[in-house]
Amino acid sequence: MAYKIDVKKCLKCGLCVTDCPEGAIVVDDTVTEDDGLTLYTVRIDPDKCTDCGVCVSHEWWCPAQAIYKV
Ligand code: SF4
Ligand code: SF4
Repeated sequence: MAYKIDVKKCLKCGLCVTDCPEGAIVVDDTVTEDDGLTLYTVRIDPDKCTDCGVCVSHEWWCPAQAIYKV
């Protein structure tokens, strides 16, 4: 079992980075747009992810529901 982020759905909001209880969602890149909005390119580190499933347990956890179990 593993969890992944669908990059086509991801809004790059970065909320999951602080919400993952294991700190398993890491930021590979940040871009600050002209309007001041920061976009985060994120991925799940399989070495840190404990497959707890919290990230897919609530609709509101990821606003784009971009995280899925494989
Ligand atoms: S919470 Fe969802 S939409 Fe936001 S950065 Fe994480 S995976 Fe992407
Ligand atoms: S399954 Fe748990 S540890 Fe893995 S990314 Fe989701 S919230 Fe974090």
